[in-house]
Amino acid sequence: MRSIKYIVFDFDGTIADTIEPAFNIFNSIAAEYNFQPITKEDREEIRMGKPKDFLKKYEISEFKLLLILLRVRKEMGKRILEIKPVKGIRESLHEIKKSEFRLGILTSNAKSNVELFLRNSELKDITDFIYSGKSLFGKHIVMKRLFDREKINPGEIIYVGDEIRDIEASRNAGVKVIAVSWGLSSRKLLESAEPDQIADTPKDLMQCIQRILILPEVPAHNTD
Ligand SMILES: [Mg+2]
Repeated sequence: MRSIKYIVFDFDGTIADTIEPAFNIFNSIAAEYNFQPITKEDREEIRMGKPKDFLKKYEISEFKLLLILLRVRKEMGKRILEIKPVKGIRESLHEIKKSEFRLGILTSNAKSNVELFLRNSELKDITDFIYSGKSLFGKHIVMKRLFDREKINPGEIIYVGDEIRDIEASRNAGVKVIAVSWGLSSRKLLESAEPDQIADTPKDLMQCIQRILILPEVPAHNTD
């Protein structure tokens, strides 16, 4: 049996229902950047992982997109008290915590935002740690920084996230990963990146963890 001690969550889209508010903020400021508002069909394309098609369609440079995303993040920070937890996640987090796993959050969002959100969502004492960090070289670098700080062995962790890059970062860091299909990326897209498990509702999380616990230990294969 695997010795998993930590369940570490991504924040945006996984615990906090930030996807819809982010699109709404994007649309409310789009005109300032000479952008068209994002339509429902666009959202589907983004969920299917075709952001490049989307950028081409609206002739948006990646640099300009980065600028507007930074602004969306800033606006979201101002509205953090309006952000709700994903339906059912509160119960699942409590269930996981009761099973004596240590529970953490690893996010590129500001720690103060996450703390404010948790306090506002009756989840104040749910986490053992919140780690906020960014790296130009990817989320796996941030994961490794966290492991150093908390003295965690990657084999003791399951990471839970809603995006392809969460799956890739976990793979790079030697961590088991559960992808959740209620966030930014569609289930089909997540499947293509082959996470260890996929949860379609927060209720599935505990079962996904159990399944990973009984997976046979195999030596990590070299992906180079
Ligand atoms: Mg996310």
